[in-house]
Amino acid sequence: MSMLDAHIHLSDPAYQEDMEIILASMKRLGIRACAVSMDNDSSRTTLELATRSDLVLPFVGIHPEKFADNLDSMVHLIEANSGLISGIGEIGLDKTYAKTDGDFKRQKDVFARLLGLAENLKKPVSVHSRKTLDEILEIIPSYNISGLLLHWFDGSKKQLNTAMDLGCFVSYGPVMVYSQDKQVLLSCTNRDKILVETDGPVRFSHCFGMKSAQISFIPSVIFCLSKILGQNYDDSILMLEENSKRYLGA
Ligand SMILES: [Zn+2]
Repeated sequence: MSMLDAHIHLSDPAYQEDMEIILASMKRLGIRACAVSMDNDSSRTTLELATRSDLVLPFVGIHPEKFADNLDSMVHLIEANSGLISGIGEIGLDKTYAKTDGDFKRQKDVFARLLGLAENLKKPVSVHSRKTLDEILEIIPSYNISGLLLHWFDGSKKQLNTAMDLGCFVSYGPVMVYSQDKQVLLSCTNRDKILVETDGPVRFSHCFGMKSAQISFIPSVIFCLSKILGQNYDDSILMLEENSKRYLGA
């Protein structure tokens, strides 16, 4: 049995010094990770990391914060490495990073091009949808992507229902351990569409004491999920393993 951290930024500088320890602990705990990227530079770092461990599943792309990054060279990077890449991400929309309408249009163009590429290459995607869920839920039906993850799902129950109707996966992370809103959303999510993530190196409050997220948080997230769904830990691991296989198309 193996676990999957469906969304973590392993290419982030915060992790580089401890990478040997991180890779060793992933091996010991049996945790694979969808290692998402932010831009061309971090995508290359992610691809390098994937050569060091087959537990690292490289996802490359341009995050909405980095909408000004070179889109053509990203497309080239993805096409040139399509056999090595597990998925495309982190991609999406986020108005907090768009100062002008032009910025938001550029975000949409980048998102659309990378979704199109994911569709052509039959790759799963990891989508950032902060404050843009309605826009994203409107865009998704134009693409035929079987593994589309709305990571760190933070919508309403109505938006969750739409996401389920569209066949999206949604992931929950350390926030779910202390936020009742997230626990309610989890309990309303189709069980075959749930994944777990850390979104490291994001820092989490409450019981996590503002510690930067580590892959080793994943068993705690799964333990909490088991309590909320009223099933035992091993059944949760099995459920998540099946969901991960379908998400990754493997
Ligand atoms: Zn992220």
